[in-house]
Amino acid sequence: MQTPRIIRVPILPLGMVNTHLLEGSSGCILVDAGLPGSEHKVGKALEARGWTLKDLKLIIVTHAHVDHAGAAAALRERSGAPIVAHAAERAHLLGEAPMTFCPTGWFGRAFVKNRAIHERYRPVDPDILLSDDETLDLTPFGVQGRVIHSAGHTAGSLSVQLASNEALVGDLVASGVLLGGIVRTRHAIRPPFEESPTTVAAELERLVSAGVRTFHLGHGGPLDAHEVQRHARVLRHLQPGPPHPQRLPCQ
Ligand SMILES: [Zn+2]
Ligand SMILES: [Zn+2]
Repeated sequence: MQTPRIIRVPILPLGMVNTHLLEGSSGCILVDAGLPGSEHKVGKALEARGWTLKDLKLIIVTHAHVDHAGAAAALRERSGAPIVAHAAERAHLLGEAPMTFCPTGWFGRAFVKNRAIHERYRPVDPDILLSDDETLDLTPFGVQGRVIHSAGHTAGSLSVQLASNEALVGDLVASGVLLGGIVRTRHAIRPPFEESPTTVAAELERLVSAGVRTFHLGHGGPLDAHEVQRHARVLRHLQPGPPHPQRLPCQ
C-alpha cells in the first residue's frame, strides 16, 4: 500500500478553512467536511484528480464545529461513504446539545457573538463512533494510518496519524492570524476556541514523540514538529483564567 497523497481542499481562501483528501490507490478519505455547501468544493477537488464523490471511502469528522461538520450529511448522501466521529461529539452532531466555544482571545470572544458559528447545520448521526481512546485502522480504506482520539480543542476531537509521519489534527493547533492562514502560516497559534490547553499540549507532544514530522491543520498550516513543540510549551505555561461559570467546561 503506497503512502497517501495529502490534498488540501480550501473551503475559504488563504488557508482560513481547509479540508483534506487522502488519496489512496483505490479511492480517497476525506478529513473534515467543511462548512455547509462544501460538498461542491470537495467534488471539484476529487474531479481534478480523476475521482468522483462515489470514490470517497470514508468521511472523518474531527469534531462537531460547523466548519468541520457542516457538509457531512450532504457528503454522505452523495458519496455513500460512512462517517466516523468520536462519541463525545455525537449529541452536538445530532443538534441535541449546543456546541461549546471556549474563546482563546479577543478574536474568539468576538467570534462567539457571531451567529454564523452557532448556525445549525444538517444533523448527522455518525456510522462509526469511537469511544474513549479507541482507534480506527485506515488500512481497510486504502490508507496506512489510523484515526486517534486527541482531545483538548473539544472533548471528542479526532486526529489522523499516517505511517508517513504526517498527521491531520483538525483544530488541535492553528497557524497564521485570525481564523488561521492568511499570513505567518508556518507559525503556530491557538485556534479561536480551545477547551483545555494542557490537554492539547499533551496530545501534540504525544504525536511528536510518536514521530510525526508534519502537521496538517483545519486553519492554516502545515506546521513542522519543531514549531508544534514550541507551541505545546507555550500552552503549558498559560495561566488558568479567572473562575467564571461561562468558562466551564473550558479550562
Ligand atoms: Zn473547532
Ligand atoms: Zn475549525
